[in-house]
Amino acid sequence: MQFIPWQNIADWHCKACGYCCKLYSVVLDFTEWLRIAKTFGMEKTVAGLDRFYIKRVSDGSCAFLCNHTNNYYCGLQNMKPEACKLWPFKVLSEPKYGQPNQAAYDYGGMRLYIYADTMCSGLRCGTPTWDFRYTTIREFAELALGVRQVQYKTTRAVAFRQQQWGRRLFP
Ligand code: SF4
Ligand code: SF4
Repeated sequence: MQFIPWQNIADWHCKACGYCCKLYSVVLDFTEWLRIAKTFGMEKTVAGLDRFYIKRVSDGSCAFLCNHTNNYYCGLQNMKPEACKLWPFKVLSEPKYGQPNQAAYDYGGMRLYIYADTMCSGLRCGTPTWDFRYTTIREFAELALGVRQVQYKTTRAVAFRQQQWGRRLFP
């Protein structure tokens, strides 16, 4: 896991490769756990010592990861946990991963520090495009701050495709 500051990234678009959903355990807060357990059953979650997780299936993937013609989609979408909404970015109050000037992002009078996990294949390095700087990163900052709940620049478009052909996949 290696993090780079957002100002070293030209753009980001999810390629639906599914790596993130295969590699990491998703931590749930209590509210997220309750919604998922009530909707899909407690068996889709796992209780740890002091936190809840989404269950992983035998190959290590998230129990909600769906595959359609080698594109991987999230079966939770509008119930997606915050950790998944924010991936592959980390929005922090301190420059934990270095290069503070490159990671700095000012929002509403607050100084945030935003990094991305280089494991994500949807990142393109370079000088931030206008769209990435003023819409994508802003959306991630707002998601992290709780100012917004709905995703547009993240995997939101996938939800639409799921509605077209996904009822079979996501009953
Ligand atoms: S967020 Fe990145 S790692 Fe995850 S599915 Fe999309 S492109 Fe792949
Ligand atoms: S909840 Fe969705 S986005 Fe999160 S790990 Fe599972 S399939 Fe991936």
